[in-house]
Amino acid sequence: MTDKKLGINTRCTHAGELNDTQFKGAISPLYMSTSYAFEDVEVKRYPRYFNTPNQVALAEKMAALENGEAALIFGSGMAAVSNAMMAFLHSGDHVVLQNTLYGGTRNLIMEEFKKFGISYSFTKNLKPESFEAEIKENTKVIYIETPSNPLLTITDLNAISKIAKKHRLVSMIDNTFASPVNQNPIDFGIDVVIHSATKYMGGHSDILAGTVISSEAHIETIFQLAKNFGGNLSDYTVWLLERSIKTMGLRVKAQNKNAKKLAKYLEKHEDVERVYYPGLRSHPDHELAKSQMRGFGGMLSFELKDGINASLFQKQLKMIKPSMSLAGVESTILLPTLTSHALLSAEERAAEGIKDNLMRFSVGIEEKEDLIADLEQALVAVKELKV
Ligand code: PLP
Repeated sequence: MTDKKLGINTRCTHAGELNDTQFKGAISPLYMSTSYAFEDVEVKRYPRYFNTPNQVALAEKMAALENGEAALIFGSGMAAVSNAMMAFLHSGDHVVLQNTLYGGTRNLIMEEFKKFGISYSFTKNLKPESFEAEIKENTKVIYIETPSNPLLTITDLNAISKIAKKHRLVSMIDNTFASPVNQNPIDFGIDVVIHSATKYMGGHSDILAGTVISSEAHIETIFQLAKNFGGNLSDYTVWLLERSIKTMGLRVKAQNKNAKKLAKYLEKHEDVERVYYPGLRSHPDHELAKSQMRGFGGMLSFELKDGINASLFQKQLKMIKPSMSLAGVESTILLPTLTSHALLSAEERAAEGIKDNLMRFSVGIEEKEDLIADLEQALVAVKELKV
């Protein structure tokens, strides 16, 4: 069931299933054993070796979803990011990084890489020339994130993979915001695809996990490091994640649809200064997004007009919850200045274009009319407040 020609919902449901040969149950059985036979067996199984039955089956599903050859499942998105990067970067090496990265990835780089003798450069912008300009003799990896957090900027997958091939670099992408439902970077020549599976793959705000998908050869390189670092996901959560992914296609397509409707509603609203959503014609990279995404995702950001306090607005919402994470079936909202980008200085945030009244909105699967009604009543309520 890993045929890439099968539709996305079919792959979500059936790829990498474990057959219940004992009782013929409809779903994958769960093997919680941390101890397996070592004699007369083909594989010596152990959870930290990423090779228990449930881990292997879910890895097959991940590879099928991203059109890769193999995958590893990690205990968090950051475990996936750090293992993937560290597997290809050694002391003395250099990595080129997109200037707009998830805050945790930025922290990993800025707080840890020096200890390992790894140097790095952030690009000036997202133009392919800006990536090429930062490549040095010792560069080994080029790392991107598209759409980016929180401004939903778009990086050209084709152009980046061409640059990486020209300079013999390993190209990596954090594909979390798009999910495999909307974007398959391997089809554009990107080597390594990373997800925080905590987000769209889990989809219910109750699983912390990560995954890396690539060629057999690259996954073997990452595995050799990962088995020593010990960042695998527990089998119970592997099983739960497999269950969650069965509905990912349905969830994400509903989120795409809602987000587009809400982006259009907000764009027309007199209290909204600007909306950032790659599915809007007004987005500067809308055409590029169309060329590499099947749907534009469930994430959007918007700035309220001057004089409307974003923090107070968020407090007036009744259904849309203030929440740090994203991509659950429930709609959530946050202020990057107070959360994901709080560790950046005001100047650094300004350089990235993140204003204090910017709100990042993770659109769920509720009825769009109910979401619009919640936003509407909160906008009315915040203007009536005497502050
Ligand atoms: N990448 C992106 C784009 C994220 O948004 C996050 C978490 O918010 C991560 C990676 C890290 O994932 P985790 O929190 O599962 O470690």
